[in-house]
Amino acid sequence: MTSVYTFGGKTDYADPRQKDKTVTGGKGANLAEMAEIGLPVPPGFTITTDECVKYLAGETGFSDALRDNVAGALKHIEETVGKSLGNNDDPLLVSVRSGARVSMPGMMDTVLNLGLNDATVQGLAKTSGDERFAWDSYRRFIQMYSDVVLGVDHGLFEEALEIAKEDKGFYNDTEMEAEDWQTLVAEYQSIVQDELGKPFPQDVSEQLWGAIAAVFDSWDSDRAKVYRRLNDIPGGWGTAVNVQAMVFGNMGDTSATGVAFTRDPATGEKAYYGEWLVNAQGEDVVAGIRTPQYLTKAAREKANAKPMSMEEAMPEAYGELAAVFELLEKHYRDMQDIEFTVQDGKLWMLQTRSGKRTAKAALKMAVDMAGENLIDEKEAILRVDPMALDQLLHPTLDPKAHRDILTTGLPASPGAASGTIVLDADKAEQLSNAGEKVILVRVETSPEDIHGMHAAQGILTARGGMTSHAAVVARGMGRPCVSGASAVSIDMTSRSLRIGNRELKEGDTLTLDGATGQVMAGEVRTIEPEMAGDFGTLMEWADKHRRMRVRTNAETPADCRMARQFGAEGIGLCRTEHMFFDANRITAVREMILAEAEAGRRDALAKLLPEQRADFKEIFEVMAGLPCTIRLLDPPLHEFLPHGDAEFQALAEVSGFGVDHLKRRAGELHEFNPMLGHRGCRLGITYPEIYEMQARAIFEAACEVAKESGEAPIPEVMVPLVATKRELEILRALIDRTAQAVFAEQGTDIDYLVGTMIELPRAALMAGEIADEARFFSFGTNDLTQTTLGVSRDDSARFLAPYTDQGIFDRDPFVSLDVEGVGQLVEMAAERGRATRGDIKLGICGEHGGDPASIGFCEKVGLDYVSASPYRVPIARLAAAQSSL
Ligand code: PEP
Ligand code: MG
Repeated sequence: MTSVYTFGGKTDYADPRQKDKTVTGGKGANLAEMAEIGLPVPPGFTITTDECVKYLAGETGFSDALRDNVAGALKHIEETVGKSLGNNDDPLLVSVRSGARVSMPGMMDTVLNLGLNDATVQGLAKTSGDERFAWDSYRRFIQMYSDVVLGVDHGLFEEALEIAKEDKGFYNDTEMEAEDWQTLVAEYQSIVQDELGKPFPQDVSEQLWGAIAAVFDSWDSDRAKVYRRLNDIPGGWGTAVNVQAMVFGNMGDTSATGVAFTRDPATGEKAYYGEWLVNAQGEDVVAGIRTPQYLTKAAREKANAKPMSMEEAMPEAYGELAAVFELLEKHYRDMQDIEFTVQDGKLWMLQTRSGKRTAKAALKMAVDMAGENLIDEKEAILRVDPMALDQLLHPTLDPKAHRDILTTGLPASPGAASGTIVLDADKAEQLSNAGEKVILVRVETSPEDIHGMHAAQGILTARGGMTSHAAVVARGMGRPCVSGASAVSIDMTSRSLRIGNRELKEGDTLTLDGATGQVMAGEVRTIEPEMAGDFGTLMEWADKHRRMRVRTNAETPADCRMARQFGAEGIGLCRTEHMFFDANRITAVREMILAEAEAGRRDALAKLLPEQRADFKEIFEVMAGLPCTIRLLDPPLHEFLPHGDAEFQALAEVSGFGVDHLKRRAGELHEFNPMLGHRGCRLGITYPEIYEMQARAIFEAACEVAKESGEAPIPEVMVPLVATKRELEILRALIDRTAQAVFAEQGTDIDYLVGTMIELPRAALMAGEIADEARFFSFGTNDLTQTTLGVSRDDSARFLAPYTDQGIFDRDPFVSLDVEGVGQLVEMAAERGRATRGDIKLGICGEHGGDPASIGFCEKVGLDYVSASPYRVPIARLAAAQSSL
């Protein structure tokens, strides 16, 4: 099996591994595929991702086999182009780029113009007939290579360039002449000599291997790691390396470079969308240094922009490009994100990939493409990332609210966001961790800002187009973003910004509308999202194709109503303890806990009963006719205890006990390890009157709703933290007794079920016998993960990050189910439960019930339903459909 694949020129593409993204990465696989279907791709080769994994694991560097393969592949490029690397008369120049299985925009390294040295630069000047171009390319190469491969601070080069321009009285780079660049090259070389104590490498082979190593190493850079963590990309994948003959978009006015999407990545509209720059190299477009121009005439006119679009300025190359767009969309049956270069009038394709898109665009494209018969309904369901729906479910700005518009930039990533202005990424992260909503405002963003972008509610940049780093990353993260708002100027010394004639400080409030590009002072009112349109269509398709039911975890009528709007088909978990925290009833709860004997507890419980009944009644009314799983009290009692003297004092006044007495009782209730302490059904066993009161409240409420509305809810009374059959037997008898008593009093009865959570390993192991007592199981995978791994769910955030970084866990096991470990317990309990009771109802109500990967596992195990928090209900509906396709 080779570890190097060539493309372009005479290549046969016979080995299917070459077009497998896991082997050659997304970029490498698609370059091969484009070349194979006859598109103009500069020749090159791809080193496989396995080589990266090997390189990063070992200390031995590159194997002889790899060196031989690369030498052969280089020959392929040289023969196809008719130039050779390091040849002084007619040098070949190459680009060296990363390319992982999935795209990680800007996270890894790239080196362009490799192959230049003091001799080959002269050859390039001669063959191109353009001395300025040759020296400009050389200085770009030295800067990029020194930064990426040699680790020299790129600021030093920027500074030298600024000084050179100042000396000449120039404002733009374009004013620099050949000699100016040549002088700068000498300057750059002395910077390298001073910084490293050795000269810039002249040996082109050393340059090439240095660049390959740097690209491999960049897989493990801090920013790549952060990106992987945020996007759930395993650290073990590695990146491929693509080495490709350079084509030049910076060879004068018949040359250009650009990026394009076959449909609008922000809205999904079926219109070519892109940006280009005449006489520029690829990085110029994405880096946001020059403001790129519109690709099509229509887009330019819509934006009222002056500089000519590519369609108008280079009609021939544009025509060719448009034909390529059509071909690629048909070939990949998806929206493509394309990089191209025009060298002296000739079009070259540098990259194509399925383009990143906002959730709105993903939905629209999926529904549209199904309408165009490009894909079918099932494929459309699979096209939308369930997690991305999250972006659509959140509020947008109320069109009727007043907007104090400061400026309008580019609508780079939709959604509305308000927050306080923060001017750097670290501070954005700090404040967000402290619970503040922030808007990150930068001149432009770079990959180093990614943690701050993630922490922020929204991002505003002064420079950069729709394909700038900020725009691409924000869209991927689902953060609203306005880019290229050129009226914004930032002063880091006074930590303030000026927008037009308005002065704002860090800490002031700003609102962004990523759908229109508007930047507004203060906070603007928002409205709830639209559930119809493409969203409604896709959800309808999903519902048609899914097997599992989707319920919600909710305990307030407002949440229940919202969840029903989102399509919830019942309640999977109502955590009753949340009702105990209510400010009006906490005192009665505290009296109950601190009572020393049953009589005292019963007095306090009598006060709570009508309140609980009213809670359940409201919920049952909203969820009429649907199953409602109500879980009896779970958390350790000490969670309800008073804190601080004032609370003790207040309690002393109503309870009649002295503060000292209350404090002593509280001390008695202290637990060293409350998560494994006196909680769950252990409370019900020791203080049955608590569960009795709750059961009574449930049944009284259900009977009342049934009588009043004629539509009875179906209560499923759930006992938490069961470890043994006997616990459930005792508590089930209590619940049944209470039900019968209530039905007799009310003169009516209703259907109900008693079941249990499976959230302890022993319960999973003993599920066969527990099922004798349980009509349903609901997997409480939060506690089941905690108790199986022996990792505290409340403390794990402090130490789990290195676990995911080092690949010990692919993902945080409290977010995505540890299918291999905890999953075994779930599977076993499901099987054993069903063996005892064929019609046992099985569901999941841990947080994993809203995680698409975990939902896939639930489908495999054959659970009847998943339950998720209200905003996750649509995500779960779509994920359930995807997992049953
Ligand atoms: C669980 O443990 O998974 C669960 C749903 O219960 P809680 O999160 O309330 O402990
Ligand atoms: Mg639990």
